[in-house]
Parts: sequence; structure tokens; C-alpha cells
Amino acid sequence: MEKVISVSIGEIALKGLNRKYFEDQLISRMKRAIDEIQYNKIYKEQGKIYIEAPEENLDLIINRLKKVFGLVYISLCYRVEKDMEKIELASLEMVKEKLTETPVKTFKVETSRADKSFPIKSPEISSHIGGVILKNFEELTVDVHNPNFYLYIDIKKNAYIYIDRIEGYRGMPVGTNGHGLLLLSGGIDSPVAGFMMAKRGMNISGVHFHSYPFTSERAEEKVKDLARKLSIYTGNIKLYSVNILDIQKELNKKCPEKEMTILSRRFMVRIAEEIALSNGLDALITGESLGQVASQTIEGISVVNSAVSIPILRPLIGLDKIDIIDISKDIDTYQLSILPYDDCCTLFSPKHPVTKPKLIDIESSEKNIDIDSLIKNAIDNMKIYNIN
Ligand code: ATP
Ligand code: MG
Repeated sequence: MEKVISVSIGEIALKGLNRKYFEDQLISRMKRAIDEIQYNKIYKEQGKIYIEAPEENLDLIINRLKKVFGLVYISLCYRVEKDMEKIELASLEMVKEKLTETPVKTFKVETSRADKSFPIKSPEISSHIGGVILKNFEELTVDVHNPNFYLYIDIKKNAYIYIDRIEGYRGMPVGTNGHGLLLLSGGIDSPVAGFMMAKRGMNISGVHFHSYPFTSERAEEKVKDLARKLSIYTGNIKLYSVNILDIQKELNKKCPEKEMTILSRRFMVRIAEEIALSNGLDALITGESLGQVASQTIEGISVVNSAVSIPILRPLIGLDKIDIIDISKDIDTYQLSILPYDDCCTLFSPKHPVTKPKLIDIESSEKNIDIDSLIKNAIDNMKIYNIN
């Protein structure tokens, strides 16, 4: 009787012919997450994934797996041969452990028999094991509708017995849905946006815009730290760091002050598009949320969109700030995000920004500016970091 970890996979189980591909991606993500912890093997068995490891490492492995997208439940189970006596013993042991942790009174046994060659049917296994448990633990009774705990028995190549199911993040394995370039500021929203797209299976690279020496080196360090937090979920992040001070100076000199934010946003997405296209990336990702600030009105968003043709994904568009903050706390980026370092947007930021910009006005302001050479110059001088 040995303890192993079982992993249930959600949505990816629906993927028909792609299922094997998704499973293999998931396994490779899991392996990466537990890289430096010692384990014996990871294997698939009839719809679930199992990990065999030294007992003292199991909890550590579970903690890492919680952060891998594509996992629905994680459980610690006993693995035994498909033999009723062994299943009984493992079930009793599981229940005994449960009782030492929490005072429970009612239970239900639920069996799933993937291996139809096993001669005893699921309901009979459940009622037999239920009877054995009742006999051994006088304090317990069966409640089929609302039990304090379920004892699950999976009959596959082996038999697996478990009680607790730890919830994963669900979603899809990173790498199964393209590659996005996240516009990563130092704020609260953009790391959350990256997290959400990674959860849908996107690989993530990042681009940060700064105005060094007006913005500090510490501000850039903070963004690297944020990327590092994100990389726990996404895997390695390539981070492009672009100085846009010359662009901001030029805009400040030649364009109406109230358009500064929207104009620099248009430069940001243009530069990001350029980086994306030359690196084979599929989309940009921003942390915008409708109406949150002056530049995030529907008019502002439209005018920024018009600067590029690559899709801009905005996973936070319909979320309230409080919801976004909750997620940032959950993924542990919040405390970093609220560190008060200067952001390039505060430089030359207009007192009364235009909230309903018209494309025609913005384009006319840009006529005085050599867009291409400014972009080329910024990209020629950008730095690239590998964050992991
Ligand atoms: P965040 O909390 O992500 O900074 P915010 O609420 O401060 O967002 P804005 O400053 O208007 O909102 O920025 C909107 C989005 O534009 C950000 O979520 C981010 O994706 C992108 N962005 C803004 N400033 C930068 C920057 N300096 N570098 C990279 N991306 C940026
Ligand atoms: Mg910001």
C-alpha cells in the first residue's frame, strides 16, 4: 500500500482527438513545476495522471501542482492492487487518517470503475466498503445526500482510494493556446491580465516601458520581480524593457498636453506589435478595464486599437477593481504592485486628459512626428531579460 498523488484534468478531457496532445503538454508543465523535487515517475492511467514520489515530498509536490493550469483536483491516494481485501485495508487506513484530522460523523463511498473487467460493479463495491467502514468506526454513519466526507474508489489498472480533493486553478496547460505579449507596467492590473491569459493556455512574454533616468532602476527591478512571480504560473518569461523617454519628450514638445496619455499608449502598442511580429507572437495583452481611468473609456480603447492590427486581448475588461485586487492577492503580486515607484505614465501626464478622443484629432497630432524612426530607435535600444 503506497501513497501517490492523483490529478484530475478538466476541460482538456473534452478535447477529443487533441486530448493526447493536451495531456502531454500538461504533463510537461507538471514536470517543470516539480523540477527540483525528487519524484520517481509521472504516469497516465485511464483518464488521470499519477505521481509516484518519496512520501516526505508529496505535500511539497502538491503545493507546486496547485499552480499548474489545467488541473481540476489533486488528491493524495492509496494505490493498491485490485483486490477487495487490499481495497478494504486502504479504505480503513484513509478513514482513520481523516478522523485524526477532523471530527467527521457521516460519509458516503463513491466508486468509479474504469476497468470493466473487474468483476464487481461500482454500487456493490461502494456498499461493501461502506459496510466495512461502519463495522470498524462506530462513530460514523452513512449519509448519501450530504455527507461530511466522500471516500472515493477508482478501479483502473490499479485501485486508488482517496478522500480529500484539493482544487486546482483549472484552465488549460500553458503553451496550448498561442503566445501573447503582455504589456507589463508596475501596477496591479497587468500581472493579473497575464495570469488570466496564461490560465487559458497562453505562453507569456512581457514588455515594459520606462523613462529612465526619470523612472528609477528600482522601478524596473520591481517589474522584473512581478514577472518572476508570474513565471511561477507561466514558466519562463522573456521580458523586453523599452525606454520611451525620447518618444515622450517628442510628444510633449509637439502635441496637445491632454492627448499625452493616449498618444504614448499608441506608441506602446505599436512597439509591442513590432516585438510580437518579429518574435512570432500572436497577440498583445493589457490590463485595461472599461472605464477604470480616463484612458480606458471605450473611445480611448478604440483609438489605441486603431494604431495596430494585431489583436489586443483585455481579459480584465469587465472586472471591477476589487475583483482584480482579489486575484492579485491570490497570485501574490499585490504587495509588489503597490510599491510606490514611479511609472513612465506619470511623466508628462496631463492634468485633464482627453476622455473621448477622436481618431481624426489624434492622427492629426501624430502628423508632426516621425513615428517610424522613434519606434526603431526605441527597439534598437531595448534590453531583454530572461525571467524564471
Ligand atoms: P496597471 O495596474 O496594469 O498599471 P492601470 O490601471 O494603471 O494598469 P493604465 O496605467 O491606464 O492602467 O494602463 C493600462 C494598461 O496599459 C496596463 O494594464 C498595461 O497593460 C499597459 N501599460 C501601462 N503602462 C505601461 C508600462 N509602463 N509598460 C507596459 N505596459 C503598460
Ligand atoms: Mg499603470
